Amino acid sequence: MERVKVLLPLPVGGGYDYRVPSEMAVSPGDFVRVPLGPRQLTGVVWGEANGAIADEKLKVVLARHDAPPLSDSHRRFVDWLAGYSLSAPGSVLRMSMSIPEALDPVPPVTGYRAAAFPPAKARITPQRQAVMEALVREKVIEAATLRDAAGVSGAVLAGMARAGLIEAVPLARRQPWRQPDPAFAPVTFSADQEQAAALISAAVGSSGKVFLLDGVTGSGKTEVYFEAIAEALRRSLQSLVLVPEIALSAQWLARFESRFGVRPAAWHSDLTRTQRRDVWRAVATGEAAVVVGARSALMLPMPRLGLIVVDEEHDQSFKQEDGVIYHARDMAVVRGMLEEASVVLASATPALESVVNVERGRYAHVVLTERHAGARIPRVKLLDMRAEAPPRGRWLSDKLVTEIATTLAAGEQAMMYLNRRGYAPLTVCRSCGLRLTCPDCSAWLVEHRLTQRLECHHCGFTQPLPNICPDCGAEDSLAPCGPGVERLAEEVTTLLPDARVAVAASDTIRGPADAAALVRDVQDGVVNLLIGTQILAKGYHFPRLTLVGVVDADLGLAGGDLRAAEQTWQMLNQVAGRAGRADRPGQVILQSWQPDHPVLRAIAANDREGFVAEEKAAREAHGMPPYGRLAAVIVSGRHTDAAAAAALAMARNAPTADDVTVLGPAPAPLALLRGYHRHRLLVKASHAVNLQAYIRQWFARCPHNRQVRIKVDIDPYNFL
Ligand code: ADP
Ligand code: ZN
Repeated sequence: MERVKVLLPLPVGGGYDYRVPSEMAVSPGDFVRVPLGPRQLTGVVWGEANGAIADEKLKVVLARHDAPPLSDSHRRFVDWLAGYSLSAPGSVLRMSMSIPEALDPVPPVTGYRAAAFPPAKARITPQRQAVMEALVREKVIEAATLRDAAGVSGAVLAGMARAGLIEAVPLARRQPWRQPDPAFAPVTFSADQEQAAALISAAVGSSGKVFLLDGVTGSGKTEVYFEAIAEALRRSLQSLVLVPEIALSAQWLARFESRFGVRPAAWHSDLTRTQRRDVWRAVATGEAAVVVGARSALMLPMPRLGLIVVDEEHDQSFKQEDGVIYHARDMAVVRGMLEEASVVLASATPALESVVNVERGRYAHVVLTERHAGARIPRVKLLDMRAEAPPRGRWLSDKLVTEIATTLAAGEQAMMYLNRRGYAPLTVCRSCGLRLTCPDCSAWLVEHRLTQRLECHHCGFTQPLPNICPDCGAEDSLAPCGPGVERLAEEVTTLLPDARVAVAASDTIRGPADAAALVRDVQDGVVNLLIGTQILAKGYHFPRLTLVGVVDADLGLAGGDLRAAEQTWQMLNQVAGRAGRADRPGQVILQSWQPDHPVLRAIAANDREGFVAEEKAAREAHGMPPYGRLAAVIVSGRHTDAAAAAALAMARNAPTADDVTVLGPAPAPLALLRGYHRHRLLVKASHAVNLQAYIRQWFARCPHNRQVRIKVDIDPYNFL
């Protein structure tokens, strides 16, 4: 190719043309270095140049990286996702090459060994001692491995080398990625599991075949899709597993290791840059056969992709809300289609979208109806708080407290679920009634007693807890209102002083190490009462946990969110699913002030069919997803009047089209966020409408307005 179009990882345009010097050979997909103005950037050869600029005026490609090219199907995926989400292709590409140094030549690796003649008088600190001990076990160790093994920093190693205690040895290359072994430790399946595994495994590597693996919590969905991964391994195909919040999936990684002998490559935000570089490279060269990650792992280049698993496919965290707005579950289905990979969506509470896709014949339905080894589905009881209200300042009814006490006395464990971080969601002045709010958002400040600060959970603003009211100046008048998990822990400790309590929220469990420590503490019985937010709801398997209490089952039902009922249903079922997973039966107690609410009644009766039927009917009646299409347009600006006027002007410019309605503008529920005033429009259309084409046409009619920012969210999930 002599003239090429190169897509750069930038949020603008669709690529620039370059000339290829005669001594260089490039093909589509190659990573190349090109000039852009005064800068040099790395991009991807997207195809033939299509501009009409004369050869001599074209800038020249500077270099080609010695890295595996981005496959044809991956490039089509980038274009597809850009078109669907109405983003610049370069913004999408950027997500696929988020760690540019992975494209550079592999740096030589340093190893260390103990010095043959160490100085007699060197200072031996405990850290240095740990390094020496690690080096006794193995003669030469790669620097990174040694740091981990001895729990020391690179500076400690460098210091020891200077002191002559250890010697650096250049290593030819890093240790090869260890391959998972499909035959390492297979389980014996039940008849149902066997059938499910056979169906899914047979389709590995077949284009765009999608399965909804639908089984109650604890039915062995993970074991079943492990078998599909084993099949991919046997056929030398790569597997990609997306899980919500991988940083917290300590148990998942351990299970993978016991099934396949090694840990998979993991991709998540807690990795260091060096780790990210190594994982990216191993995945993009095809060396790493299995990668597990949060939603961003979906964008990793994988040359031999044969299987994509989306575990807990209903989970909200698969929706990316900033930058390129997309839903990783939906885009996994698209990627499977483009890459000849099969897709497994696993859940005990599938999204309504997925259920309807099964009905429409798009997804195959694979069902597991029973918990493994005869464990029973927990009994769910609704506790009517109108009759059982605890005294003022307390949130647990006497009945629930008694159940906790009985459970703990029997040597079992309990979990209290409350999806509210911190101590109290609201602080009020008892003297003037002022509610403490964030200066930059329309949101209350949440008290965190551990840190003695107030925090905005939307923008991260924090301030120390004041001791006088900022409005009326009254002293000691500020009072916490309502409970967060910290306050609940306080209540429990007062009522049950012998309970061994741990609070699990995103501010106490910050990463894989904390999560692993918590899992160990629960498994060893160091903790017998867990109090936590939604981070506790997912995936955990604690055999001795038999009681789950939901402190405020009504919490998710308030507000006008389209998916409020569905999400409450899913969340409460997930939480309930933590109880009684082994031989002892579990029970779940839901505290509610509206126990007649249909969603809560369906949960108590374990009536999934009824719930789904009712929810579908309601959505269908209003033409709402999955029976119609939605897009949200958020217009935001520093000045509320300007933003409102711009949103109104946009609404007036909306083209009339069949089966399309533009609703609004209206102030967004979160009307102020990070100092920006937000107004919202909602586009509602039937399935027959090309929503993206409509929006493009609409925006083309709107004059550019520098005072506002416009964000489009196709298939919005978050209605804030
Ligand atoms: P799910 O993903 O549906 O919640 P899991 O795969 O986590 O279910 O299974 C629940 C528990 O039962 C796990 O500890 C798992 O190892 C175990 N289990 C499931 N199926 C089998 C099997 N066929 N043989 C042995 N253990 C199994
Ligand atoms: Zn804020």
